Amino acid sequence: QPIVAFEDVTFGYERDRTILKGLSFEVPAGGHTAIVGPSGAGKSTIARLLFRFYDPWLGRILIDGQDIAEVTQASLRAQIGIVPQDSVLFNDTIGYNIAYGKGGADHHTMEAAARGASIMPFIEKLPDGFDTEVGERGLKLSGGEKQRVAIARTLVKDPPILILDEATSALDSRTEQDILATLHAVSENRTSISIAHRLSTIADSDEIIVLDEGALAERGSHAALLAKR
Ligand code: ADP
Ligand code: ADP
Repeated sequence: QPIVAFEDVTFGYERDRTILKGLSFEVPAGGHTAIVGPSGAGKSTIARLLFRFYDPWLGRILIDGQDIAEVTQASLRAQIGIVPQDSVLFNDTIGYNIAYGKGGADHHTMEAAARGASIMPFIEKLPDGFDTEVGERGLKLSGGEKQRVAIARTLVKDPPILILDEATSALDSRTEQDILATLHAVSENRTSISIAHRLSTIADSDEIIVLDEGALAERGSHAALLAKR
């Protein structure tokens, strides 16, 4: 059974403008699926529907076979972690930022949780690790450092499904590769859905879904899609 399934999902933000048009796809548990397509195709909309910021007009979205319209917000949030492109961090320590992801645990509990979740590689490179102050009163983090903290904050909750919504697209490709390598190293067997731009980012995806104007244009492995060009 797929861990995520979209079944004929139709949705728009405004009544007279349909964004997703009867979209169906499945993501196998533990699989890495990438969603690519032109800007405005509806990629981020998929992520927003999965997190139930909105509900589909028609069709269903299933997680583990269960319609997400029928599960509590709390259980949905335990299952899915999303990292957006421009993560907002609190003007506080990195420890605080990560503890917040864990529901506001104290520094000690959180550090233990971070070690347990083996997300240390995301934090170690920062000058004072957990104690690094960010924002106005501390270090001005680079885009890549911010995204490392944002990913760590999401991973500490240990969500079975990780959604990267252009999480590394704004970074230079070396930083992006670096972050993805860390991600791969620390989160084996997690299902991931990456909304992406650069083909280099998604070369190791099990399946690529090409979205165009809210409908599935193509799907297949990286090699299969390249072979068709
Ligand atoms: P992508 O991620 O593929 O670039 P999006 O899913 O963000 O595309 O957006 C798809 C379409 O929906 C775009 O045309 C966008 O303008 C529109 N859209 C996105 N968010 C909203 C919103 N909150 N209200 C109205 N239209 C929106
Ligand atoms: P696995 O042994 O499960 O295939 P990988 O080392 O390929 O493990 O990936 C481990 C984790 O790295 C995934 O659970 C996911 O969080 C992330 N990951 C792997 N491939 C991608 C990808 N193409 N896009 C985004 N994240 C990915």
